[in-house]
Amino acid sequence: MSLPALEEQSGFARTVTARAPGKINVSFECGDPREDGFHPVATLYLAVGLDEEVTARHRDDGEIAAELDDASSIAVDQASFPVGADNLAVKAALALRDATGVHAGADLRILKRVPIAGGMGGGSADAAAALVACNALWETRLSRQDLASIAAGLGSDVPFALFGGAAVGLGRGEDLAPVPLRTESHWVLIPASYGLSTPKVYQELDRQRERADVSVPAPQEVSPEVLHALLEGDPLKLAASVHNDLTPASIALAPELAHVIERTEEAGAHKTLVSGSGPTLACIAHSSAHAERISMQIRDELDLQTIVVSAPAAGASILPNCGAV
Ligand code: ATP
Repeated sequence: MSLPALEEQSGFARTVTARAPGKINVSFECGDPREDGFHPVATLYLAVGLDEEVTARHRDDGEIAAELDDASSIAVDQASFPVGADNLAVKAALALRDATGVHAGADLRILKRVPIAGGMGGGSADAAAALVACNALWETRLSRQDLASIAAGLGSDVPFALFGGAAVGLGRGEDLAPVPLRTESHWVLIPASYGLSTPKVYQELDRQRERADVSVPAPQEVSPEVLHALLEGDPLKLAASVHNDLTPASIALAPELAHVIERTEEAGAHKTLVSGSGPTLACIAHSSAHAERISMQIRDELDLQTIVVSAPAAGASILPNCGAV
């Protein structure tokens, strides 16, 4: 029997495509590790207009597997791209199945635009998109809040990728309070040609603090200055208030970042920050035209890849006309 006939018999949609945004952390404060090993954080998340897409195709044999979409806009090493239970999208689909008791399977084709191990939560966006796509494909009909509970078990940044926009994240980052943002901001992203492992960046931060004999309590809130600057949509105030506790650790592991930051600020960026654990850099511009100008100058002078984006971007959603029935 041909595959389409099987799909018709199953009663499920053939494929569903969902998208979810990458993020930057406009502010990131982090305390010493808790007893469970996680670092407590207070972060201001901002979803940016750089989406991952996950297309879920129903499988009758109950298997769940991932594959990389050839149309991905970033170079990905096929050999090291996880296709089994190590892939966060597969983990998400398995967790949805556990939570709902369905027996269906899915192939998850992942179109990557967010740099891998770049500090922009690309894997987390894949997990969020996979939850939304499989929830529709398998007709499990969980609410966004129910999906968020599953998401919190998958990784600190997964709930934010579901909701998008802007949000304060406490705890490990999964305890979210949405920030009602009505202003747009403009950014130039500079992905690196390499990744940084988030756990290694945290280890480096702990080492640096130990050497300096500094202990840092769990942060309780993000600074009001950065929150107001983002709400006001004032790029200069934002530039003066963005902060990332992980930056010294990221720069210790990738020292060339310091030079690139300096050069981008000379090229007109109001401020350049390390996104999450890095190494992706995010430059603040005051308009999309300004962002384009900075982007061109960085390309010309530093021969680096740049991506111009606006924010905020919406959380995970199903793409129309994607074959869902
Ligand atoms: P975060 O900012 O959430 O710490 P990141 O953006 O630095 O994450 P990711 O691209 O999300 O990093 O992935 C980090 C690692 O997770 C990769 O090195 C890869 O081995 C593994 N991984 C698992 N699933 C995926 C996925 N769907 N896409 C990319 N990497 C994945």
